[in-house]
Amino acid sequence: MKAAIDLKLVRTRLETKRAELLEGVARAREIGAVETDAGAPDIADRATSAFTREFSFSLSENESHLLRLIDEALARLDNGRYGICVHCGGKIEPQRLNAVPWARHCIACQELQDQGEI
Ligand SMILES: [Zn+2]
Repeated sequence: MKAAIDLKLVRTRLETKRAELLEGVARAREIGAVETDAGAPDIADRATSAFTREFSFSLSENESHLLRLIDEALARLDNGRYGICVHCGGKIEPQRLNAVPWARHCIACQELQDQGEI
């Protein structure tokens, strides 16, 4: 039975995901810049580029949120608190960490948070 989590593997997964996100954010900003520079010759094009800008904005907002979670997880790896729920101090389930390596809460606390209880 494999109960322990492989912290080295976790770090690699976090760092890989982090690099992917940073690449994605950079690309989204590039697209935004191109849209602005190109201008919009008619109403249909303007609507499209407004939509694209909005989309790339919310994308980078989500991504920067995830990026923060990943940075926090990497910090917890450094200070030896990785895998400990930030709310109750209990152990986060290894299956959960395998699925979501940047998880901050155990399953019980995550459910509370989803319901707005914490
Ligand atoms: Zn908890």
